[in-house]
Amino acid sequence: VSDLAGRHVTVAGLGVSGVPAARALRGLGAAVTVVNGVDGERQRAEAAELEALGVTVRLGDGDTLPQGTDLIVTTPGWKPSSPLFQAAAEAGVPVWGDVELAWRLRAPDAPPWLAVTGTNGKTTTVRMLAAILEAAGLRTAAVGNIGVSLLDVVLGEEPYDVLAVELSSYQLHWAPSLRAHSGAVLNLAPDHLDWHGSMAAYAADKGRIYEGNKVACVYNVADPATEDLVRAADVEEGCRAIGFTLGTPGPSQLGVVENILVDRAFVENRQKQAQELAEVSDVNPPAPHNIANALAAAALARAYGVPPAAVRDGLRAFRPDPHRVEHVAEVAGVAYVDDSKATNTHAAQASLDSFEHIVWIAGGLAKGATFDELVVASAKRLRGVVLIGADRALIRQALARHAADVPVVDLDRTDTGAMAAAVREAARLARPGDTVLLAPACASMDMFVNYNKRGDAFATAVRDLASGRGPDD
Ligand code: ADP
Repeated sequence: VSDLAGRHVTVAGLGVSGVPAARALRGLGAAVTVVNGVDGERQRAEAAELEALGVTVRLGDGDTLPQGTDLIVTTPGWKPSSPLFQAAAEAGVPVWGDVELAWRLRAPDAPPWLAVTGTNGKTTTVRMLAAILEAAGLRTAAVGNIGVSLLDVVLGEEPYDVLAVELSSYQLHWAPSLRAHSGAVLNLAPDHLDWHGSMAAYAADKGRIYEGNKVACVYNVADPATEDLVRAADVEEGCRAIGFTLGTPGPSQLGVVENILVDRAFVENRQKQAQELAEVSDVNPPAPHNIANALAAAALARAYGVPPAAVRDGLRAFRPDPHRVEHVAEVAGVAYVDDSKATNTHAAQASLDSFEHIVWIAGGLAKGATFDELVVASAKRLRGVVLIGADRALIRQALARHAADVPVVDLDRTDTGAMAAAVREAARLARPGDTVLLAPACASMDMFVNYNKRGDAFATAVRDLASGRGPDD
């Protein structure tokens, strides 16, 4: 830590991870320069705040390496292929992400990290894990990519026994010395490939979570690529590969037997083959993908030595974050469910798998995805589809190819009012007992500020529908 004093550190990026990093580095006595490609109103406000602390801020150029830089601390906005890093490589300047910085700055007796990554389910799993650890009476927090800066936690005063840490593939890419107590990769599906360059590079970055694990590397039995990453990792002696499965678990696995979550990996009583942890109905909501998340959280907690009763109590106490398969209301016998957080096809698949008869509201920014697989797997459950957003034609074409008999309403709209219209169209298509499901399989930024706002617009439209109000009343 002390060797950062007086060093020239360049922080790439402002915002939620750049500003705390610059502040922390300044606090440690480093000479800090922040570079940022965008020179807008928000950036200038953040710059002014940092300049008051003695940080130099250079707006409008995020590519040139400032003279005399000893270290770069970067944020997710910079791709590994950025010119800044090419210059750094040529000059022999190391690059750390915010997680690497936090890992290096933590105190010698700092709490261990139970770390979670994966394409989908990270936030849910980390929150479940924190709930379980709390139920065990441990001082803990859900931190990292979840929106709580690891740096703030590591440098803060609050004492913790153990941390539940969400890590993104970006953060893992730039965290070479991270050594978690135990780590989990929940699943792997194509996402963010424009940043990582390829699926192989994306998977390898996710796999970094297992490096140096001490007790358990938790993988998804149904997703063999996650087990491959465990095999490729260099772990501490005695560290075990622990699988989770929705089926009957094998030895060293957690799974489900007759609607009970059971643990065959960490069984204290040698007389017993398996330890019962909780009932499926303790998981909220008890959809298949969410039971998988609960098993992954349970595996990490059990690796840390948490007793079975705390797993059950923690899962019962857990409440899902908004916009994640959230039940909004029932109107005329039809359930309205908000899964606005389903911003890619893999996530949308999980929620489409959770219901029987669905009127599906989809569309937005596709980020280069294809929809054939999703449509093929879900076609027989679709009562109808309502399409909104910029890339809706891609979904419409996939539906025409694989589900030609499913009624499709293409709203041909990208204005914010389109959501209310979509809900009304969906209500027309639905029959009692059906579910109207917002699971866009796309990012929201073509129509909304973020997925939260998209989900809020859906919920408002549903409430208007329930009260019999039109959008203009
Ligand atoms: P992340 O933090 O990885 O984005 P979240 O827990 O916020 O994950 O869930 C995001 C979305 O992904 C949810 O709305 C749901 O549709 C879907 N999802 C959650 N868990 C899983 C899973 N285990 N497998 C596939 N999809 C999932």
